[in-house]
Amino acid sequence: MTKDELWQATLAQLQFQISSANFATWLKNTYVVAKKDGGVTVSVPNNFSKEWLENKYNKIIFNILRSLDVEIREVTYLVERGPQKPAAAAPQEARPAQESQLEFQGLSADKTTNLSPRYVFDNFIVGPFNELAHAASLAVVKNPGVVYNPLFVYGGVGLGKTHLLQAVGNKIGNDFSQKKIRYLSSERFTSGVVSAIRNHTIDAFRSAYRDVDVLIVDDVQFLAGKDKTQEELFHTFNTLYERGRQIIFSSDRPPKAISALEERLRSRFEGGMIADISLPDFETRMAIIKAKTQERSLGIADDVLEYVASHIQRNIRELEGAINRLAAFFRLNNRAPELGEAKGLLKSVISSPSKFVTPRKILEAVSEFYDLKERELLALSRKQEVVKPRQIAMYLLREELKSSYPFIGKRFGGKDHTTAIYACEKIAKELQASESLVEELGLIRQRIYGG
Ligand code: ADP
Ligand code: MG
Repeated sequence: MTKDELWQATLAQLQFQISSANFATWLKNTYVVAKKDGGVTVSVPNNFSKEWLENKYNKIIFNILRSLDVEIREVTYLVERGPQKPAAAAPQEARPAQESQLEFQGLSADKTTNLSPRYVFDNFIVGPFNELAHAASLAVVKNPGVVYNPLFVYGGVGLGKTHLLQAVGNKIGNDFSQKKIRYLSSERFTSGVVSAIRNHTIDAFRSAYRDVDVLIVDDVQFLAGKDKTQEELFHTFNTLYERGRQIIFSSDRPPKAISALEERLRSRFEGGMIADISLPDFETRMAIIKAKTQERSLGIADDVLEYVASHIQRNIRELEGAINRLAAFFRLNNRAPELGEAKGLLKSVISSPSKFVTPRKILEAVSEFYDLKERELLALSRKQEVVKPRQIAMYLLREELKSSYPFIGKRFGGKDHTTAIYACEKIAKELQASESLVEELGLIRQRIYGG
């Protein structure tokens, strides 16, 4: 087994052992850089992934690796060299090594704000796909708590929500040094609520959050179904809002598409500015890749950059993963890869089997999006909250895979092909009338192709 095959096999097993959200977050863009003398070195994109893998998943990963290769005794995680300076439109002169070294050291998140200094506006590329969200963010930076409160940014995985939100936090921190800023993921907020309840420290928890000037909560779609947490967030929101403090949220979908969200919280989310981030077009993808390769002085030829930009379309994190591989080649060989070599290096990123759509992927994406179990989606229930997702799944099977109606019917609890025809026609018709349905389908497709 080559080291790539070994890692692919490990990921394939790991996928079943941890939640898909965790899998996507911590294992994307990882690969084995070296396997030697019983040691396996896994390249990870950043320090967060490194910490998580070391602390939470190391044992599972090690056990899987061991089961694949008994010689393996140790796994270590290695962070690829990150960006050292903000991207610039024009190539900059190389700086003295010492200076970039210093910058590099300061890349871990701040203990109080939880903001990572690597996410700034200077290295955030703006194109038609994220223009609105970017403009709204800048307006918030200028006048925190005054315009656009709350700001709600949504968009698919790996498209820059976290980067943008943290850039806002960093810039406000810079421009208004007395302001207290707090960034956290909705999961972290949830676990804060849970432990505060358990330890009877809810008052302390409340005052900690209600005291900040800027509260940024990332990925609020994960609050779905968590009533107690929603309630706390609702009250925190109200307190901050009344005091004129800025609140910023992100989500992978618009508020109205978050299921199991209390109505009053939803209406708070919708009460300010909602801005979406869609998919970057080719030109913007080129701009992003150029900036990121220049930032690392990689000097990669345009045909290689174009190859990457035209093959990775739906996820900026994946673009970075591709660049990391090219960078690894550069370090090893002291020159940039040529097109043929680049194709080889990027083979598993670009045409990995997971990139092909399968019925499974569609069912998975739909049930995840609507927060259903796959078997609920496939069962015969007529409950309204299942009927629509089921029809959408049928529609997507037809549209994306050109599946036959009898096949689709069979897949859904042995239904007749007329049921499948009915579902597909119904959704097609609704799509003409409902912009929000078009949007939902767009987000589901992003999951199917980008996730
Ligand atoms: P999300 O939170 O939407 O899943 P992230 O903000 O984590 O996505 O972005 C994924 C990666 O892509 C990050 O490393 C981020 O720095 C980079 N990235 C995203 N959008 C941009 C952009 N517009 N310009 C430059 N880099 C970006
Ligand atoms: Mg994010």
